[in-house]
Amino acid sequence: MAGAGCGTEGILRRQAQRESAARTYARSLPVVPVRARGLTIEGADGRRYLDCLSGAGTLALGHNHPVVLEAIRGVLDSGAPLHVLDLATPVKDAFTTELFANLPPALAADARVQFCGPAGTDAVEAALTLVRTATGRRGLLAFTGAYHGMTAGALGASGGAPDVRVTRLPYPQDLRCPFGVGGPEGAELGARWTESLLDDPKSGVPAPAAMIVEPTQGEGGVLPAPDAWLRRMREITAARGIALIADEVQTGVGRTGAFWGVDHAGVVPDVMVLSKAIGGSLPLAVIVYRAELDVWAPGAHAGTFRGNQLAMAAGAATLAYVRENRLAERAALLGDRMTTALRGLAADQPCIAEVRGRGLMIGVELADPETGAAAPALAAAVREECLDRGLIVELGGRHSAVVRLLPPLTLTDEQASAVLDRLADAIPAAAARRPR
Ligand code: PMP
Repeated sequence: MAGAGCGTEGILRRQAQRESAARTYARSLPVVPVRARGLTIEGADGRRYLDCLSGAGTLALGHNHPVVLEAIRGVLDSGAPLHVLDLATPVKDAFTTELFANLPPALAADARVQFCGPAGTDAVEAALTLVRTATGRRGLLAFTGAYHGMTAGALGASGGAPDVRVTRLPYPQDLRCPFGVGGPEGAELGARWTESLLDDPKSGVPAPAAMIVEPTQGEGGVLPAPDAWLRRMREITAARGIALIADEVQTGVGRTGAFWGVDHAGVVPDVMVLSKAIGGSLPLAVIVYRAELDVWAPGAHAGTFRGNQLAMAAGAATLAYVRENRLAERAALLGDRMTTALRGLAADQPCIAEVRGRGLMIGVELADPETGAAAPALAAAVREECLDRGLIVELGGRHSAVVRLLPPLTLTDEQASAVLDRLADAIPAAAARRPR
């Protein structure tokens, strides 16, 4: 199309005029993607970017991976119905088989899967309703800094907008440990606080239906839970008949260097919440849980869009590809290399307060070197400098001061170096701007 307004600027201008003030990525990333493959996105203006946002961690295989495209085309060309509510189909059957093959074996042995509405938040709602129905209890244990989604129950379980039925517990962290000690000791103090709240008859905390935990907090600022701590949470909940819900929406499908985030600790949750990568870049969400919890009445948790055939085909292809190509191991290896390189960079950059990560879920926390205060303006400047250098990154953390990398698990060594080079260049450039 020719004429004014058809190019990048016109599209961005119309977006700013017509779309909600709640838009997020669109504000900080003035990019109009028209083509994408793997790690690379090409804008309408012909510029190319290395995409380390990956659809907020959705694109385990990067953009338009051939196996994903082939799976989608296969369904389209077969004449199969695309919308089937929750009816059985060969596509769904294949997805479920692949999903069960990848679950922690102790859960897969006697599990049920529920297809929910298509977003992660829908699956969180389903999980919360399930455990409340199964136990008859209303209360929930959740963590500081958690993010579980934007619908009422999920938002209430998140750190930003608490619900009166939710008891907030400290999530372990080293740099900003609420007990001032960090490390295993800080995590253990959090575990003891949890026990004390549950066992003290005058703690004011009624017996809860469940505990919901992210094995590595993503939006909270890339905080991996120590394995020993996660095992403690499993023991504490199991001993008291409290269901453990693992929110694996972001950590699942190899992202953290194991197929599931809970695998690092060898923990088997009662409920797993899955979305993002399980749909192979298309909308899909499920919960998987111990059969014993399957107390629903028919239709107790419904949703029109529970049957996205294209997403199930794309998801099955993604799960199989990650399994067959051992991409979780690859993510662990590359993630270690990248965090080591970033820690090396931190030695020369006093504004880098901490480099954290597990697998290809990596965070660089920026802070004022003198006061230690989180530096959100500097983080925003780093994101801008990255974009100028053709690198798309995300911010997260309590104060939006953590630069986050969520590259596809298919990242090559050369691409990892290119990402690191651009970031290594962008951080001092942003620091030199002295943003306030
Ligand atoms: N849980 C976690 C751990 C997440 O990271 C997210 C999304 N970032 C959600 C739930 C919500 O998923 P959705 O945005 O698809 O509703």
